[in-house]
Amino acid sequence: MMKLYVYTMAALLLNGCNPGSAGENQVARTSDPLPYEYAIVIHGGAGGATREGLGEEGIAAYEASMDSALQIGLEILRSGGPGIDAVEKVIRYLEDNPLYNAGRGAALTSEGIAELDASIMRGSDLEAGAVTGLTEVRHPISAARRVMDSSVHVMFSGPGATIFARSQGLEVVPPSFFITESSQRSLERSLRANKFGTVGCVVLDTHGDLYAGTSTGGITNKKHGRVGDVPVIGAGTYAKNDVAGVSCTGQGEYFIRITAAREVTALMEYKDYSVEEAAREVIHQQIEGMGARGGIICLDRYGRVAMEFNTSAMFRAYGNSDGTHLVKIFPGEGS
Ligand code: ASP
Repeated sequence: MMKLYVYTMAALLLNGCNPGSAGENQVARTSDPLPYEYAIVIHGGAGGATREGLGEEGIAAYEASMDSALQIGLEILRSGGPGIDAVEKVIRYLEDNPLYNAGRGAALTSEGIAELDASIMRGSDLEAGAVTGLTEVRHPISAARRVMDSSVHVMFSGPGATIFARSQGLEVVPPSFFITESSQRSLERSLRANKFGTVGCVVLDTHGDLYAGTSTGGITNKKHGRVGDVPVIGAGTYAKNDVAGVSCTGQGEYFIRITAAREVTALMEYKDYSVEEAAREVIHQQIEGMGARGGIICLDRYGRVAMEFNTSAMFRAYGNSDGTHLVKIFPGEGS
C-alpha cells in the first residue's frame, strides 16, 4: 500500500492539474512486476462537467453511483466469477441509472427518442457482440452479450436487433421508458448542454481473461440512424488477452476514424508502448490532434490501468485485488 501511495503522490506532483493526466494512471507502474489477480475500471463518460455545474449534491450522486458500480464488479471478481458477468452487471446497473447516457436517461435524437448502442468483447478469442439503434431493449449491453454468445454474427441493428433480443428473452420496454425529464431538457436546450455519460467497463478476471464493454445513447440531437463509435468493435470497445482491454467515450465520429480502442492495443502490441503511453498517445495526440474530445479507460494484461481524457472531467472508478479502490471525476484529484 505504501508503494502505491508513493507512486500516486509522485504522479500527482509530476502531472499537476493537466486535464486527463490524473495521477491514478500511476497506480501501478509498467515496471512493477507484480500483476494483479483481478482488476476493474469503469467510466461514466467524459465531458465538460465542472464542480460548480455539478454542485456538491451532483458530485456526491455521481461518486456514489460509480462506487456502487465498482462494488458490483469487484464482488464478482473477488469470488472468481467470469469477467464477462462483471462487465455486463456493472453496465446494466449504469444503464438503469438516469444520471448516465445509457439506457434510461440516454441522450435523445433530434426526433426525441433514445436510440441505444452497445458492444462487448472477450479478449481470449476476440469474440464480440454489438447492437445499434435499439429503441425498446432495456439493457443494450445484455443484447450485445447475447449477440456474442448466441449468434454467429457480430452486430445487429434497429428492428432486427430488437427481434433478436426478444428471441433471447431480454426485457423489452416502450420507447418512452428511456426518456427522462433531464434528457428531454437537454434536447430542448439542444447541443448547448450535450449530455455526456456513456458508460464503459474493462475487467481482468482471476482466470487471466480481459473483457471490455460500452453502452450509450450517443450524442444529444443526433440524426435518426446515426451510429457512433460504441457499437463499432475496435473504435469504442476492444479486448485482446495478453495486450489490453479498452472502452472509449467522447465524440464518436473521431474515435471511429482512428479506431481508437484497437489503436491502443496496436501501439502496445507492435510498438511496445505501456498501457499509459498508449492511452496518452491516443487521447492527447490523435484525438486532440483532430480537435476532438473524449476519454479512454484501459487495463493491460496485469490489471494496470490507464484513464486518460482531454475534457474537464471523466466519471471513473478503478479497483484491483490489492485493495486499491478509486472513484474520481476531475483531473489529478486525490483518491
Ligand atoms: N462516444 C459516444 C458516441 O459518439 C458518445 C459519448 O461517449 O459521449 O456515440
